[in-house]
Amino acid sequence: MPSTPRRRRSRIRFAALLLVAVEIPLFAGLLVAQVADPTRARAAGDHAFLVQAADGTPVTWDPCSPVGYVVDWTDAPDGALALVTDAVATVEEATGLTFTALGSTQLSPDQDGATDPLPGGAEVLVSWVPTAQDELFAAGEAIGWARPMVVGGRSGGQVYGRGQIVLDAGWFADASPTRARGVLLHELGHLVGLDHVEDPSQLMDAGGSLGREYQQGDLEGLARLGPLAGPRCS
Ligand SMILES: [Zn+2]
Repeated sequence: MPSTPRRRRSRIRFAALLLVAVEIPLFAGLLVAQVADPTRARAAGDHAFLVQAADGTPVTWDPCSPVGYVVDWTDAPDGALALVTDAVATVEEATGLTFTALGSTQLSPDQDGATDPLPGGAEVLVSWVPTAQDELFAAGEAIGWARPMVVGGRSGGQVYGRGQIVLDAGWFADASPTRARGVLLHELGHLVGLDHVEDPSQLMDAGGSLGREYQQGDLEGLARLGPLAGPRCS
């Protein structure tokens, strides 16, 4: 693992890469991707969304269907199972969304989009990858990135249907549990639809506010991304 100086770490930016498929992806070749500038940030404020409908409604996951996820534990840090389980539970509580763990995989993350079928019909792939294997990590520009993918188009509705969270195994290997949790919560925030804010008091600040829990603005945004603000699901 590279020994990144701590001074440099403090400047490492978190990345939210956004992949938007404007058609239902019957075939991988039909995907139309737009990858946002990973360092972009919205105007100052308490929360922001990656994608919103014309009326301002944020795009989110289907609030009435569990989000299945699989994890590649190959390069995960010690304690990763508890880290993931606890962070996912926090997002569930904050959004009302439900996540289902569907086991492990060694499928590689895909910078161009999660187009390969995931085990168990999962929608989300969580991976730790060696620092040198990810351009952003190797360049010191990020220690994690998340990419939700919009699907839909029928009936005018769009939801996230696939997603990835990719984490820098080298950084996590040395990180305290608190800092590791902060990064994972930040990336989960992106996964469910939050964008960066220019507000260091919030976990979704572009700088990541290392070691934080979700703050008030983060929580207000998260609450708008699930059944807490939308349809009741039974
Ligand atoms: Zn970010």
